[in-house]
Amino acid sequence: MIATLSAGAAGTAAEYRLQAVSVQCSASEHGLPRAVTVREVGPRDGFQNEPETIPTERKVALIDALARTGLRRLEVTSFVRPDVIPQLADAEEVLARIDVPAEVSISVLIPNERGLDKALALREGGVARERAAFDEINVFMSASETHNRKNVNRSIAQSLAGLEVVLARAREAGLRCEAVISTSFGCPYEGHVPVERVLELAARLRDAGAQEIGFGDTTGMANPLQVRRFFAQARQELRPGEGKGEGDRKTLQLTAHFHNTRGQGLANVLAALEAGVDSFESSFGELGGCPVPAGATGNIATEDLVSMLHEMGIQTGIDLQALLACSRQAQEVLGRPLGSHTLVAGPVQWNA
Ligand code: ZN
Repeated sequence: MIATLSAGAAGTAAEYRLQAVSVQCSASEHGLPRAVTVREVGPRDGFQNEPETIPTERKVALIDALARTGLRRLEVTSFVRPDVIPQLADAEEVLARIDVPAEVSISVLIPNERGLDKALALREGGVARERAAFDEINVFMSASETHNRKNVNRSIAQSLAGLEVVLARAREAGLRCEAVISTSFGCPYEGHVPVERVLELAARLRDAGAQEIGFGDTTGMANPLQVRRFFAQARQELRPGEGKGEGDRKTLQLTAHFHNTRGQGLANVLAALEAGVDSFESSFGELGGCPVPAGATGNIATEDLVSMLHEMGIQTGIDLQALLACSRQAQEVLGRPLGSHTLVAGPVQWNA
């Protein structure tokens, strides 16, 4: 397959023939998915990157509101060391206090085995209500050595070895597992990241038990040509969705996780859609970022993503107005305006 990245990771514009998508026509006519899944990561990724620690009851109120917007997957917190990320030191309390309907899957970020120990202890201890404290875990590592070292102080090999144990134990505990590979589209320290390396890591994580692989453009370096080519190759090599059932390791979901660092997040979404991707991660209000390097700004805003998808006739099951109310609520909590466009402009009104 395409092995060289030296001529630029993108491909040529001629390869990228985008058909005009008018408001009236259906997405499927253009080879785009009819519906996509959106996983909201703001309560974890967003709250973690705020300089101030948000009071637990405000977090709980925001999560409870998000859980009633039609979102079906919510990442609510992380089991990281409280001295490293004090903003999420209340993980247990948040999980005990949120009231999330059963049809919404709750996920937590697990950095390592110690984090998994804490999470499983909480889950087994039981929360005083019907549903489990959480349903899914999310693990992460970087595709570049330097970013991985700066982010988690481990080599890629060390991270992989640790996550293989975490994933095996989590699957044994009946949890759904997603692994996110950061810097999949480029590293601020190392530059181009070979697609083959990213896909090899993805295959290792899949074989270790991950049912979903998220590819993260952690510092917003990806462009649409590169994204389209990347996912075409990823789908060809990883063959998502071709297994026979839940127990089959080939039943794999591929997810795109874009940051809007350079304003290209939604362009990258369209490119991923064209390559057949139907699962995305985003943050309401465009909250979030990455601890390294400084200045790595937020994920694409969920409301901007949902607005674009709905305008293209792609279903998400999400109530955009309800979602915007959550972002307004977050603005109040944080005491500053948030960066999402739809929050400022409002949803498109064709009959205004
Ligand atoms: Zn992110």
